[in-house]
Amino acid sequence: MSPTIPMGDLRREYDRIHPEIDQAIERVLRRGWFILGQECEAFEAEWAAYCGTAHSIGVGNGTDAIHLALRAAGVGTGDEVVVPALTAAFTALGVALAGATPVFADVDPVHCTLDAAALAAAITPRTAAVVPVHLYGCPADMEAICQVAQRHGLLVVEDAAQAHGARYQGTRVGALGDVAAFSFYPSKNLGAYGDAGAVCTDDADVAQRVRALRHGGQRAAYHHEFLGTNSRLDEIQAAVLRVKLPHLGAWNRRRRNLAAQYDAGLAEVAALTRPVAPADAEHVYHQYVVHTSLRDALRDYLDGAGVATSIHYPSGVHLQPAFADLGYEPGSCPNAEKLAAEVLSLPAFPQLTTSEVKQVIRLVRFFFAMH
Ligand SMILES: *Cc1c(COP(=O)(O)O)cnc(C)c1O
Repeated sequence: MSPTIPMGDLRREYDRIHPEIDQAIERVLRRGWFILGQECEAFEAEWAAYCGTAHSIGVGNGTDAIHLALRAAGVGTGDEVVVPALTAAFTALGVALAGATPVFADVDPVHCTLDAAALAAAITPRTAAVVPVHLYGCPADMEAICQVAQRHGLLVVEDAAQAHGARYQGTRVGALGDVAAFSFYPSKNLGAYGDAGAVCTDDADVAQRVRALRHGGQRAAYHHEFLGTNSRLDEIQAAVLRVKLPHLGAWNRRRRNLAAQYDAGLAEVAALTRPVAPADAEHVYHQYVVHTSLRDALRDYLDGAGVATSIHYPSGVHLQPAFADLGYEPGSCPNAEKLAAEVLSLPAFPQLTTSEVKQVIRLVRFFFAMH
C-alpha cells in the first residue's frame, strides 16, 4: 500500500505547471535538435545569472559535475580530495571518477556538514581539493572551510546538489568556492524530468575545460584534445529546467515555510533534535531532517500510520563497501556514524499540504508522548 503522505510527489508539481512544460517539450521536439543546442545554451546563461557566477556548463548529472569540475581544475591521479563522511555516496564517487582518492572527514554534529577542524586534520602533502556539501539544503561552514583551504592551497569544489538557491552570508551557493557542482535529479530543489547537472565557476579556463570534457574532450569539432567523456545536458531537460527555474524561489519559500511549521510544532518534543542553520545562512530544506535515538521505532510508527519517511543516510560513506579498500574502521568518523543511526527525513516537498504537515506533526508528538 502506498503511503497516504509521501516523501515526494512530482505529479503534484506537474499538475500545476503542465501547460508550460508541455509547450517547452513540444518546442524542442518540433525543432528537431536534441543535444547541445539553444535550450542548453540559454539555460546555462540563466543558471549562471541565478547563481551569480560568470560561467555555467550543463552536464549529464551531478556526479559528473563533481568529476568534471575536479578534472578541469587539474585534480586527478595521486591527489587526495577531502569529502564529508555524511553525504550521498555520489559525492565521493565523483572524486573517484576523476582518478583522485577521497579522504573522509567527519561532520559537525549540529549542522551535519563538513567540520572545518576535521578537514584541517585530514590534510596531507597530497591533498589537492576539498568538496564541502551543502547537505539537506544547509550551507556548509564555508568561511572556516575556505580559510583552511586557503592556508593549504586547496581547490574548493562545492557540492551544491541539495541546495539550489540557498545563501551563505548573502551569497548564493555555487558562488562560494572555486567551482561548484549541481545535480538536477528530479527530486532536487530544482529538478529536471530525467538526469541533468551543471558546473558553475568564475574561472574561464576551468569553464572551457569542462565544456570540452563533457563532449569527448573536443575543443573544436572532430578535434579531441583530451580523453573527455560523454556527459551533456540534453535539450529536453534544459527546456524543462528553464520552465522550472522561475518557480524555484516560491518552491524554496514553501520548503522554508514547511520547516518553520515543523519547528514550531515539534519545539516541545525534547527527545527530538530539529535542524539548525548556521548564523547568516539561508537553509532551503532539500530535506527536513530530525534526529532521535528512537529513530527506527518512530519510522515504523509513521509507516504504520501511512506517513513515508527516508534516512539520509543510513551509513557514513567511509563505511560503504565501495570504499573498503581505503581502510576506514567504524569509529573513524563518530559524528557521521551517530547521525547515520539517528537521522530521519520527514515529508517536506513544496506541494505537501498544510493539513498533511499538521498530520505528521500530530503523529510525531503522539509517538513521543507514548515513549
Ligand atoms: C544527488 C546528489 C549527487 C549526485 O547527483 P546525480 O545527479 O544523481 O549524479 C551528488 N551529491 C549530492 C549531495 C547529491 O544529493
